[in-house]
Amino acid sequence: MTSVAGFALIACTPGVPSGRDHWLDIAKRAGAIGVTVAEVHSSGSEIAHLVADIRARRGGRQRCWLVLTVSDPVTVRSLRTVYGGLLWQVDAADSSWNDGSPVMGGDVVTKVAGDTFDRYATLLAWPGAHGPTADEQAMYFAAAARLRSSTVRGQAGAALCDETGDLIAVGSNEVPRAGGGQYWDGDPYDGRDRARFGYDYATAARWGDFMDTLDWLVERAMLSAAVRDAIAALGVNALPGDRLPQVLKGEARGRNIHAEEAAILSAARRGVRLGGSRAYTTQPPCHLCLRHLIGAGVRTIQYLPGRASQDLVARHGDALRSDGVSLEQFTGITPTGYERLFGRLSGRTAGVAEMTMLLEESLCRQSAP
Ligand SMILES: [Zn+2]
Repeated sequence: MTSVAGFALIACTPGVPSGRDHWLDIAKRAGAIGVTVAEVHSSGSEIAHLVADIRARRGGRQRCWLVLTVSDPVTVRSLRTVYGGLLWQVDAADSSWNDGSPVMGGDVVTKVAGDTFDRYATLLAWPGAHGPTADEQAMYFAAAARLRSSTVRGQAGAALCDETGDLIAVGSNEVPRAGGGQYWDGDPYDGRDRARFGYDYATAARWGDFMDTLDWLVERAMLSAAVRDAIAALGVNALPGDRLPQVLKGEARGRNIHAEEAAILSAARRGVRLGGSRAYTTQPPCHLCLRHLIGAGVRTIQYLPGRASQDLVARHGDALRSDGVSLEQFTGITPTGYERLFGRLSGRTAGVAEMTMLLEESLCRQSAP
C-alpha cells in the first residue's frame, strides 16, 4: 500500500472511541507526516478563525492527518463547507449528540473500538483498501431509493435483502399508482402530491384535523373562539410537527406509502418471500412500518442515525426481544462515505486538496488582524 495521500481532516463527533494512541498508531502505519489529535471548542466562532487554527496545526504540511474531536454540529458543518471532500466525519452509534439535522452527514458510524475501528481508519487512510460489507451495500441501496421520493415532508428509503445479502426490494415514501408500485418521473400521468395538488396532502389533512379538534373544543366552551381564530390565522406551518400526537400527524391520512411498506409491497407483488430477511432504512422506522416489517418476517432492522422512540420499542417489546427481531442503529460506512471510501478516486482528490488549500488561504488572509 502507498502511504496516506495528501491532507485529511478527520472530525470525530461525541461518543466516537477517540483513543488518541489508536489514531496516532494508525496514522503512523499509514505513513502520515504530521498528525495532530486535538479537541476543538468553537461553538459560535467564526469559520475563518477556525480555519486559521487548523492551518496553524497543520503547519503548512500537505501530507498529514488532523484528527479533531468536535463537540457541536455547527463546527462540523463549517468545516465541511471549507474542506469538502477532505473532511471525513466519524460519528458514534447511539450518540447523545442529536441536533435534529438531516441524517447521513457522517461518512462512518462506529460503535466499538478494536478491529472494526481499525477497518474504518484504514479506509480513511487508503480509500478502496477494503470493499463494503453486505450491510453497507444494502444501506447504500436504501439511500439511493430515498432520493426517488418527491415528498416535501422528508425523503425516506428502505432496502430488503435476503440472508446472503442479495437485494430483494427497495422502497421510498411516494404515492402508489394503479397497476402496482409508485409513480415515477416520466410516467404518462403524474399523480404525486406535488403534481396533482401542488401541496403535501398529509400536511393539509392534519391541519384540517387540528382545526376540527379546536372547533370541537370551542363548541363545548373548553376553548375561546378568539384563541381558535388566532391559531387559525397562524396557518398550517405553525403546526409543531414533532410535538403533535400521532393522530394529528396525518400519517393515516397521507397518500404516500412509506419506504418500508413500499419495499414489502414490491416483494409481495413479485412473490418473493421475506421470512428471515434483513431491512435497512434511512431513518428509524415509524410505528406503522415497524409492525409491518415484523409481520412480514423480517429478522433484523438497521437504521441510519436518528433515534427510534422508546415508546415504539416498548410497544413492540414482545417482538423486539433478544431471540426475536433485532432493531438497531446501523454502524459502518454510510451512504455518504460509500463512494468516497470504496471508489478509487485518489486521482481526483489531489485537485480537491489544491482547491481547498487556496480557499483556506484566502479565508486566513481575511481573518488576519
Ligand atoms: Zn413508516
